[in-house]
Amino acid sequence: MKRISHWIDGKVVPGNSGRTGPVYNPALGEQSAEVDLASAEEIDFAVASAKKAFSSWRAVGLSRRAEILFRMRELLDANRKEVAALVSSEHGKVLSDAEGEVARGLENLEFACGVPHLLKGAYSEQVSRGVDVHSVMQPLGVVAGITPFNFPAMVPLWMMANAIACGNAFLLKPSEKDPSASMLIAELWKRAGLPDGVFSVVHGDKVAVDRILEHPDIAAVSFVGSTPIARHIYETGTHYGKRVQALGGAKNHMVVLPDADVGLAADAAVSAGYGSAGERCMAIAVIVAVGAIADPLVAAIEERVSKLKVGPGDDPSSEMGPLVTREHLQKVSSYLDAEALGGAQVVVDGRRHTPPGSGFFIGPSLVDHVRPGSRVYDDEIFGPVLSVLRVGTYAEAVELVNSNPYANGVAIFTRDGGAARQFGVDAEVGMIGVNVPIPVPVSYYSFGGWRASLFGDTHMYGPDGIRFYTRSKVVTSRWPDPATSSIDLGFPQHR
Ligand code: NAD
Repeated sequence: MKRISHWIDGKVVPGNSGRTGPVYNPALGEQSAEVDLASAEEIDFAVASAKKAFSSWRAVGLSRRAEILFRMRELLDANRKEVAALVSSEHGKVLSDAEGEVARGLENLEFACGVPHLLKGAYSEQVSRGVDVHSVMQPLGVVAGITPFNFPAMVPLWMMANAIACGNAFLLKPSEKDPSASMLIAELWKRAGLPDGVFSVVHGDKVAVDRILEHPDIAAVSFVGSTPIARHIYETGTHYGKRVQALGGAKNHMVVLPDADVGLAADAAVSAGYGSAGERCMAIAVIVAVGAIADPLVAAIEERVSKLKVGPGDDPSSEMGPLVTREHLQKVSSYLDAEALGGAQVVVDGRRHTPPGSGFFIGPSLVDHVRPGSRVYDDEIFGPVLSVLRVGTYAEAVELVNSNPYANGVAIFTRDGGAARQFGVDAEVGMIGVNVPIPVPVSYYSFGGWRASLFGDTHMYGPDGIRFYTRSKVVTSRWPDPATSSIDLGFPQHR
């Protein structure tokens, strides 16, 4: 059986904790590998290597850092199919979708290639007679990233590109469910010329994460995952004096106004609801149909859903792959039980449309007349179950969106520019799409939700990412003529 070990100090390091976890091929429903799960001592070992590497990496010139980032960008681009194949084989998503995730990750490297510009401080001459002030942005030290199963390449790249560009040493604890992509990325960094220890990968579970949170030599933690764990990471990490950004779960709504184009809205709902089998934090989980559009919209979605091809991720004809584990499959299926539906009507039952074999497959499901208070609405399902809620007015739709505990993304579909603009003002959500169902910001903006979808002050990647991975310092200087020197006990004034 394939064994996946850690990457420390520029090489593969077999785990010695005696604990491993299973990695599955979800399309076959079989275990494909075992991954080492780090002990607290192994985390300490990796942090020590990263700390040593940091002291010289922070001193490497910006042009040289940019050169390594450019090379890494080229290498990842050249290996995008290999990374995507690893992602698909352990996560289950179809290959085209996995390649899309690598492409979005590449954008983060491209942004970070601009690090000589991004780390420019400010300079003010003559703030007082003969006194100048400048600000600098310096790296934090060893920083850690803890990432979820659903984007095993892209989400780590959201973090590592900026963290490394800013001069930090970055330690990744990827999801133990699909850990292989991170190992290939580590090899690519080495080939790009990144000094050993600046990028490390330690696999693990709660034991590894809890040591990361309390380790005195880790300055900051970036986390992406479910809301309960995000809250734990934020509370524990800040308790230990770390800078923490912890992105949590989601329940994204797509509001469809009565004037929207039904075909266009239905295409978008199906793409965003069932892409990656709904295992995206920006997936659309709820359609909010306003007024008379509900009946034609549900009919148009139903027609499209029944044609979707579910199958293995490496079959080019598959549009939707399996779920990540059997446990997750069982959880997602349970939302189609009467107890979870709370009176809602199942229009398409995905349990009836699964390919043969023992893969973790479930077909796409569509549920209509869903109401708040039912489990199918209240919970983050993270699977291919799309709910339709019917409301009478725009105001009711906004009220629904704003009263949900999650606030990651939201979309509005309409032909009315004024209504769309007002929605941008009214919706209390971090990322908003206007006729765009999955509004993941490009790499030169930042990604983050509100409320239970993000704990911390800074969003991820883009300008916020640079702020998160640096701290600023302000230097006030004066070069006086010793002949004019005198003692003055007054508080410094600048006029
Ligand atoms: P998860 O919270 O179970 O795991 C995320 C990470 O935390 C993994 O590395 C895991 O090993 C670790 N972890 C799990 N349990 C832990 C514990 N008890 N203590 C410490 N660490 C623990 O999330 P997941 O199932 O891997 O990913 C799916 C979730 O991630 C969904 O809720 C999804 O919405 C969310 N997500 C959010 C975003 C976003 O940007 N907001 C992006 C992608 C995924």
